[in-house]
Amino acid sequence: MGLKFRAYAGEEMARALRARLDAACALYNALRSADAEAYRERGKGLTQYELRTLALRLRREHDEFRALFSQVAQQVADRFYEAKERFFEGLARFPRAKKPHRYYSLVYPQHGWKVLDVRPIRSGKKRMMRIRFSNLGEFDVLVHRDFPLDEVARVIVKMNRAGEIYVIFYVEGFNPYTPLPSTGKVGGIDVGIEKLIATSDGQYAPNPRIYERALVRLRRLQRELSRKQRGSRRRLKVKRRLARAHERVANIRRDLYLKLGKILAELYDLVVMEDIDVKELIGKSYRSQRRRLHDVSFHELRAMIEYQMRKYGKEFAAVDPKDTSRTCARCGYVREDLTLGDRVYVCPACGWTADRDYNAALNILARTGRGPPVVPVELRPLPLPTEWQGGAMSREAPRL
Ligand SMILES: [Zn+2]
Repeated sequence: MGLKFRAYAGEEMARALRARLDAACALYNALRSADAEAYRERGKGLTQYELRTLALRLRREHDEFRALFSQVAQQVADRFYEAKERFFEGLARFPRAKKPHRYYSLVYPQHGWKVLDVRPIRSGKKRMMRIRFSNLGEFDVLVHRDFPLDEVARVIVKMNRAGEIYVIFYVEGFNPYTPLPSTGKVGGIDVGIEKLIATSDGQYAPNPRIYERALVRLRRLQRELSRKQRGSRRRLKVKRRLARAHERVANIRRDLYLKLGKILAELYDLVVMEDIDVKELIGKSYRSQRRRLHDVSFHELRAMIEYQMRKYGKEFAAVDPKDTSRTCARCGYVREDLTLGDRVYVCPACGWTADRDYNAALNILARTGRGPPVVPVELRPLPLPTEWQGGAMSREAPRL
């Protein structure tokens, strides 16, 4: 499990980190080109070993890459190789060339980093850890949780779009969180646009449309940015503000998803969701709903729910998403004519009438082989904090 802490560094260190990230990105793209060339020449791409060797050679031969710690350079090769593997397993598209602002972490294995000292700060449990990374420099990490430092398998240094730095320690098989008590219950969870999630017990969370609500501001900043002269100080200022605005949207969303995940971990011992391909869903939807789909970010929502379930000692499973919305949860009839606009599922075969998302959640649960009770329910909201209860335009919703 990864333990993520905020890290602090001076302007100079931040610049150094940014330069290393750019170098890692350039190395990734160089390896990608070499792989494509190998494919053209001999009909197969580079092996993991060849990629690692090439990464080290490029590092030796080019000043640009020499700034990277050797094992960090090897890890860049591994990252490309793993992305390629996912493509061959049919799980992702072929890895594209990375743009510098999309490449934002350096991975250090067991070596290349050293804790210099740890000191308590004022009262409380928090401590400040001084850590040095080879070929990079020193950072102050605000540690708010204990973990076995000698069992750390790798450390990741990360910088987000707003320039905030994080250090993540990965400790194999270590979970610092206290498991939540078992409830003996299994929940099927449907994810959607109208309702963010619906459970097989008939509970739901509305979709607060965080991105959509922030869009006016984001667009305004984007327009402002395009009016500013390239390379000017004002442009840089607006650019930073835009990055912070994006980061704020991401933070609020992450916070909501984590809250939801925790609620589900309290309710269920096992949560079942769809193994869904967002792109497939988007392709089928209308234009106006496309943005809302982006707003939900299914991938992130599922990842956060899985993370929370495991963190609290619970289980997570994904099932085949085919026809979960179109199938009648009571008799199994498949309604081919169901559209995204149909909010209520009415079965022409058996007369079952239920909220569309509740029906889908029941089907998702049934795919684990467990027969849920298929009964009509009154939908009720999940116990989220009030600011998330109101849905789209709640006045109390967090300001964006
Ligand atoms: Zn039916």
